[in-house]
This record gives sequence, C-alpha cells and structure tokens, in this order.
Amino acid sequence: MEPYPATLEHEDLLVRRGRRSGLYCIVAVHSTVRGPAVGGCRMWRYDDSRAAVRDALKLSRAMTFKSAAAALPMGGGKGVIMLRGKAPTGRARTDLLLDFAETVDLLGGAYKTAEDVGTSLRDMTVIACGTPHVSGLSRAKGGSGDPSPWTAVGVEAAILASAERAFGSADLKGRTVSVVGLGHVGLRVAELVAKRGAKLIAADIVPARRDDARRLGARWMTPAKALVAAADVLVPCALGGALNRETVPLIQAPVIAGAANNQLAEDSLDAELAARGVLWAPDFVANAGGIINISVEFAPGGYDPKVARAKVHGIADTLGAIYDASATPLSAAMELARANLASA
Ligand code: NAD
Repeated sequence: MEPYPATLEHEDLLVRRGRRSGLYCIVAVHSTVRGPAVGGCRMWRYDDSRAAVRDALKLSRAMTFKSAAAALPMGGGKGVIMLRGKAPTGRARTDLLLDFAETVDLLGGAYKTAEDVGTSLRDMTVIACGTPHVSGLSRAKGGSGDPSPWTAVGVEAAILASAERAFGSADLKGRTVSVVGLGHVGLRVAELVAKRGAKLIAADIVPARRDDARRLGARWMTPAKALVAAADVLVPCALGGALNRETVPLIQAPVIAGAANNQLAEDSLDAELAARGVLWAPDFVANAGGIINISVEFAPGGYDPKVARAKVHGIADTLGAIYDASATPLSAAMELARANLASA
C-alpha cells in the first residue's frame, strides 16, 4: 500500500458516510489561496477507503497546480464518492448524489464541484438540489456546460504553439498528427487538426472508434503503434502513463501535446524527452481548457463563451513562457504554478 502524500499540505479533508446511501463521500481541499477550490467529483470503486482518500488528496493537489499554472482565480479540490459494487441508478443514485451534495455544502463554498470520471452533467443537476456550490451545469441551467469541447480547443492551441516552437511554423498542412484515444476530447482534437490539413493517424482500444477514424480519413493503428509512429505530433488523449521507460526511447514524434492526465509515468521522463529533442507540452497546461471554461462562470459578468474561447487560447502564451524558460517543460510549468501561488 502506497503511503499518504509525505506532507499533508491540504486545507480541509472531509470524509462522511452518507446517511442516505451508507457510502463514503470525500472532499479534499488542497488550496484556496487563489480562490475557491474547484475540481470534479469522481465516482469510483476503490480497494479500500485509504485508496479513496489518497486519490482525493492527490487529485486535489494536482488541481491546485493546474489552475495556478493557468493563472485562474481558483484553488484545487476534489470530490470522491467511494462505490461499493456497481454505480447505482435511479433513486439510489439520487440519494448518493444528495449525500455528496451535503458534504460539499458543509464546506460553505471553499470547494465547488464539477463533473469527473463516473459523474455526468445530469448528476450535477441533482447535486445542485442539495448545494449551490456546483459548477459545470448545463448552459440551460446557467452553467458553462460540457468541458470536453473546451479541453479539445485548448489542446489544439497547445499543438499549434508547440509546432510553431519546434518547426518554426504552426501550419499543420501536410504534417502527420497521431491521436491516441478517440474519446470525448481526442475525437474533437482529431477533427480540429484534420480541418487544418493535417494527415491523421488514429488509435483506440474500442474497435467502434474506427468508424470515426475512417470518417476523418485517418490511418488506423493499434495504440502501441500509433504512440511510436513516424508522426510530427503525438497527441495522447487516452489514460495516463502512456509516456514511460519503454515507450519514450521509441517515440519518433518531435512534438507531444495531448489531453491525457499524468502522461509521464515518472517525472524524470520530462528531462529524458528534452534530451532526446522531443518538445513535450506539460499535460496539466495543455489540457486546462475545460477548467479555464469553468472559471469563466465565476467572472463578475457570469459565463460568456466568447470570454472562455479567448482565455482557452491563452494556453498558447502559457506554453510559450514555459518553452522560453531554461528549465525542462515540467519543471518550468511547476515553477510557473508556484510563482502564481506565491503572488496570490
Ligand atoms: P474518454 O473516456 O471520453 O476517452 C478516452 C478514450 O481513450 C476512449 O475512447 C477509450 O476507449 C480510449 N482508450 C482507453 N485506453 C486506451 C489505450 N490504452 N489506448 C488507446 N485508447 C484508449 O475521456 P476524455 O474525456 O476524452 O479524456 C481523455 C483524457 O483527457 C483522460 O486522460 C482525461 O483524464 C483527460 N482530460 C479530459 C478532460 C475533459 O474535459 N474531458 C479535461 C482534462 C483532462
């Protein structure tokens, strides 16, 4: 069993057994130094309650750095609902979500929840019945809606900024872009770069995604092959850990910019990629489009998609500053986040 993070540097950790569901609802608030702690609510099965708490602690800390690197007026938090068995449906799901809402509400606005793995826009509407501290509600309910398309817009901005840096031009016409993971974000990114004239390679573990790849004129490969294909840009959009000790030495693409969280299996691979001449856009900078979109909900005038688009395109400038630094990308991005936290 992995130990808890060595230093517990969080502001709040609330663990409650829901009185309706009997299931544990956990909220970790890592930092409110820059503003309310915003982070999704993960509904997941864990081996035991320690693993669930550890996930909340780890993910809330990551949210602090993601929002700080993007200079958002928000801190880092995370919600976890620890399932026992299958995810409930119907009345049982409503009860569970209301239990979670009660936990969120107890923190009085220090934490604002949103969608994450295992929860949906619809779930947020239920949670909103028990607490006002919910973000990412549908546009019809006054929220900023599904964050995935905005994450894709941000990844596109990251690809263009990185291509400009590596190749001296952001023009993707004729460049080969390999997208690994054609889910909510990956498919959108594939569509966006195809519109810019890129030649596509696409991969997913779900065979049905091949139809999407065909529609976009992409060359279909297995994920293992697409990751190390002779491409100009690699776009990891599946799960974490795709860049590891086995794959990094084989990667041919000079640019990597994608949506997947925790792309590096180990932090030290940041320096290894740099030493191999591969420009890697730190994942928590490249995939911040969704959270940047949510941050616009807290702006004085309320949510405005035009403001959101401009802010999401700002990812290009953030990456520019990171690439200008003498440190490797991950170190430079962490440095930027720390500086933004210190100046708040
Ligand atoms: P998703 O579940 O819709 O899509 C993931 C896709 O990857 C699925 O099609 C799945 O079949 C595929 N996949 C899984 N394992 C694979 C593998 N080994 N090789 C190839 N394909 C594989 O998820 P999403 O919302 O598109 O998010 C993609 C990634 O981006 C995740 O790591 C997520 O944490 C991260 N992210 C998403 C958002 C967002 O707004 N959705 C924001 C920030 C970060």
